[in-house]
Amino acid sequence: MIYLDHAASTPLDPQVAESMAAVMRDPALQANPSSSHAPGRAARACIEAARSAVATLAGATPAGVVFTSGATEANNLGIIGTARFRAVRGRHLVTSAAEHASVREACRCLEREGWAVTWLECGRDGLVDPAAVAAAIRPDTTLVSLMAVNNETGVVQDIEALGALCRQRDVPLHVDAVQAAGREPIDMRREQVDLLSLSAHKFGGPRGVGALVLDTDRVARIQPLYHGGAQERGLRPGTLPTHQLHGMGVAAAIASARLPLDPPRIAALRTRLEERLLAVSGVRLNGHATRRACHIANVTVAGVEGESLQLALEEIAVSAGSACDSGNDDPSPVLMLLGLDREAARSSVRFSLGVSTTAEEIDRAAAVFEHAVSHLRRLAPAA
Ligand code: PMP
Repeated sequence: MIYLDHAASTPLDPQVAESMAAVMRDPALQANPSSSHAPGRAARACIEAARSAVATLAGATPAGVVFTSGATEANNLGIIGTARFRAVRGRHLVTSAAEHASVREACRCLEREGWAVTWLECGRDGLVDPAAVAAAIRPDTTLVSLMAVNNETGVVQDIEALGALCRQRDVPLHVDAVQAAGREPIDMRREQVDLLSLSAHKFGGPRGVGALVLDTDRVARIQPLYHGGAQERGLRPGTLPTHQLHGMGVAAAIASARLPLDPPRIAALRTRLEERLLAVSGVRLNGHATRRACHIANVTVAGVEGESLQLALEEIAVSAGSACDSGNDDPSPVLMLLGLDREAARSSVRFSLGVSTTAEEIDRAAAVFEHAVSHLRRLAPAA
């Protein structure tokens, strides 16, 4: 099996797994990290080291890191928590229709509670026009939420331009940076991002842990979604999972250190893959040709039925649409925003590479793809 679904989840980095196991086995780290006795303080120190590493990855201060169960929760907390906390100032949000389901559904939840949401479209290249964001901001706008890197196409938004214009209008900007972490530099202070979501299992860390990172100079308070404890300054109460957070911290430190090394290597492998895929007739690339993160290649195969293509590609783990929307037969709304019709959106495949991907795997995956497409076309020649 060739694993090319790193956008859905990255394999746990062996070094991270080892260090998590060490924390889980260490008798000195088994106390509740909220306890004030020595073992509690030892567990807390382990968590605080992880907090610093996550802050460094995001370009923030440790005090701004609010640990969560993942980015679905971070997106919900960032969006709903900000909107509810700032409701007295206005009840209007700006986002895009191409966001991850956890952002879209958090905004829909607010719509049901009476908020107005402007759903921006993106161009056929997947880019959201900063001028459209500027035009959508109203006096009662209390949050703009846009992703850094799209999880289906890899398209990279101009976060710096969006940050500058939101700051100018004094509207907080939330960025889902899940697919950017470890693949693109993130510096939320410089980019003027006020809230940022991360998920450990997209950069070699464990599944089930993430963070909402706040620029504490800008966002002093949001409304928690859960109630019942003082952990994470009351913004996310609940006993913290020491080993999980340690794993996220180690993965964040590795990702920060390897940022100059891994993305260029992954991008070169992605180019190698794309050259082969796009040489097959009727195969086109989805999303902007160059403004894309290093790891994703999303292609549409004309005249081949989507489900048969999935079956024929069985020996490579790839994805049709995003993992979060799977189980749902509807074509990807993100691809349809790029102008694909339902049939073309269904005949699309996302290949996503990671640090463990090798050139041999890429060559084999390309050969499987070439063979699958020609086989399916022979079986059902286009009318
Ligand atoms: N946002 C994006 C862009 C994602 O790709 C994902 C993961 N599919 C999420 C949010 C949700 O993250 P998690 O799996 O940690 O809930």
